[in-house]
Amino acid sequence: MMPLTKCFVIFFIYFTSSQVIAAGPFKGPAGYGDAFPGTRYKHLALDFMTNFGESALATGDGVVVEAHEVDTRDELPVGHRMQPYGKYIEIKHGSFFSSFISRYGHLDTLSVKKGDIVKRGQVIGTIGTTGTQGPMRNIPVSIPHVHLEFFRGTDNRFNPMEYIVGCFKADTTYAEKQHTYPVNCVE
Ligand SMILES: [Zn+2]
Repeated sequence: MMPLTKCFVIFFIYFTSSQVIAAGPFKGPAGYGDAFPGTRYKHLALDFMTNFGESALATGDGVVVEAHEVDTRDELPVGHRMQPYGKYIEIKHGSFFSSFISRYGHLDTLSVKKGDIVKRGQVIGTIGTTGTQGPMRNIPVSIPHVHLEFFRGTDNRFNPMEYIVGCFKADTTYAEKQHTYPVNCVE
């Protein structure tokens, strides 16, 4: 019997402090839509935790529409409602009428630039701790992870798990709508 692929991706959920209150094997849509207690804010993304400096991967074929090289955490004064993503990348996928964008936050380095055409599984940067977290976006990121958002239009976010089929494998053929994890999985 073939061994099942083990995926060392885990999810975690941030609440009002930097405390990680849930961690475990990555299992589907957990992490999307979770409310920050006591606020009206929800985490409309999935967090994929891995080691600092590991590769961040494009979830599907597309074109880079944003490659934000500045850790925005450093741009604004303490207490300001900061832009949370730090160094981040956005990739536009799909055709004109069904396009959407994947956004990868908290990267340490970027290896693509705006306008680049990327393939699924291509390394787009490395995973880091830039940006901020929490409902007020004022807590530095302490645990390396990639914060993955999918959205249409300007910021109409939806659950990435609607499209994600699992780990990227170079020898597999995927349909355009099938997206893969933004991190490497370990066999
Ligand atoms: Zn997140």
